[in-house]
Amino acid sequence: MSGDSLPRVPLLINGEFVQSATTEWRDVINPATQQVLARVPMATADEVAAAVAAAQAAFKTWRKAPIGQRARIFLKYQQLIRDNIKSLAAILTAEQGKTLADAEGDVFRGLEVVEHAANIGTLQMGERAHNVAGGVDTYTLLQPLGVCAGITPFNFPAMIPLWMFPMAIATGNTFVLKPSEQDPMVTMRLVELALEAGVPAGVLNVVHGGEQVVNALCDHPDIKAVSFVGSTRVGTHVYERASLTGKRVQCMMGAKNHAIVLPDAHKEQTLNALAGAAFGAAGQRCMAVSVAVLVGAAREWIPEIVSRARGLTVGAGDAAGTDVGPLISCAARERVESLIERGLQDGATLELDGRRPALGGPLQQGNFVGPTIFSGVRPGMAIYEQEIFGPVLCIVGAETMDDAIALINANPNGNGTALFTQSGAAARKFEEEIDVGQVGINVPIPVPVPLFSFTGSRASKLGDLGPYGKQVVLFYTQTKTVTARWFDDASTGGVNTTISLK
Ligand code: NAD
Repeated sequence: MSGDSLPRVPLLINGEFVQSATTEWRDVINPATQQVLARVPMATADEVAAAVAAAQAAFKTWRKAPIGQRARIFLKYQQLIRDNIKSLAAILTAEQGKTLADAEGDVFRGLEVVEHAANIGTLQMGERAHNVAGGVDTYTLLQPLGVCAGITPFNFPAMIPLWMFPMAIATGNTFVLKPSEQDPMVTMRLVELALEAGVPAGVLNVVHGGEQVVNALCDHPDIKAVSFVGSTRVGTHVYERASLTGKRVQCMMGAKNHAIVLPDAHKEQTLNALAGAAFGAAGQRCMAVSVAVLVGAAREWIPEIVSRARGLTVGAGDAAGTDVGPLISCAARERVESLIERGLQDGATLELDGRRPALGGPLQQGNFVGPTIFSGVRPGMAIYEQEIFGPVLCIVGAETMDDAIALINANPNGNGTALFTQSGAAARKFEEEIDVGQVGINVPIPVPVPLFSFTGSRASKLGDLGPYGKQVVLFYTQTKTVTARWFDDASTGGVNTTISLK
């Protein structure tokens, strides 16, 4: 297909899907085959300004929309997503590479946030104290901020946009979304469904682009808050740049997630959990288990971990039976392969080498790396220090659980961690002493459901409040206190020159 006949991903400005006037376009590529699926624009400065202006204008009325009106949009939206989940997953797999089942999971974890947004009536309630002084009451209003922006990564192109705009809009804000330029198509389909559900013109806008568009969003004086999910390098830049203009910012960033395996763990369940969490989505999850810390006699389990990994099928995400799909791009594959090479140079033992898996037909062109396992990994090695973001599991040995906890607490990242054990006492000690924001006990990827919030910590996060759940209601609102006195007669009691309320 020639470049010019390819579908072009539109912008969404003030309720209209429009074609960008830019001269700069990138290809959206199926990572299993290199087939070009569409072209995505790098929006111009004028288009970014128009999107923000539309959101700013829509805020004047949307901020006053009653709770029931906001809630009912998300009730309808969750049903539309549910009805379309198979076709959403198919778009996602084509442009991102993960298996169809995992793509449905990606949509589903976002759908759970939409369901929660439909409960906005109970989430956005203030507090009230009666009679804080004689005849005086104090209460809070959780008021929307204005125009908010979201910048999302390639690895969850359904779930992460759905972490952002539903809760921002449900709380009364308007929104400008900047999806990943690598896989924007499923995000755009979700945006279409949001309009079908009743999100009014200008309340949700979408611009595409890279560094320049992101910088324009960070700098724009009419944007009040920025939510970012992506790499530590870019997230740190976004946090600093958007904070400079006084914005509220939350950045969820890179990770190195350790799972400790104690010798008393249920062996079969643990081996299955490790293989799924290390190699699922080709390791391209911010909560993937990338380091297994085998304690004591569990160090003897390496051959079984390797055989579990060897049993996984590498292939296209839309093929039945595939466990591990491709990496997102040629550049990502080259980076992962070069880190595997670094692991060898640094002296780790390559127990399983997934480079260049033998695949036929069009998949020969795909960005595949199969499950790869290193043992004998130590801090200081590149494969331990860097987020590989590929299907590579590093195995570290430890004498005791205390040594394993010390290793994890010394690592700067704090996204997720897990412990495999059958001992309640060990689990309780672990949850108490581990300095990581999301803890799994026999759960390898402990991403909380939206009744809670995503609570990555330390170097995996900048900003106080996490995405979705109760924390994000506070992120997307300003708490105003009102202290009110209503006189029941005309007496004034005279002039009071002290600070106290009586
Ligand atoms: P990325 O940082 O490259 O891109 C994220 C967003 O930033 C994209 O929209 C991209 O267009 C934009 N961007 C890229 N380069 C930029 C630049 N120089 N200046 C401004 N904006 C720029 O991340 P990615 O590769 O898409 O996603 C993978 C990363 O995201 C991994 O590090 C992963 O751990 C992280 N992630 C973290 C979480 C979490 O919750 N902590 C969740 C998912 C992904």
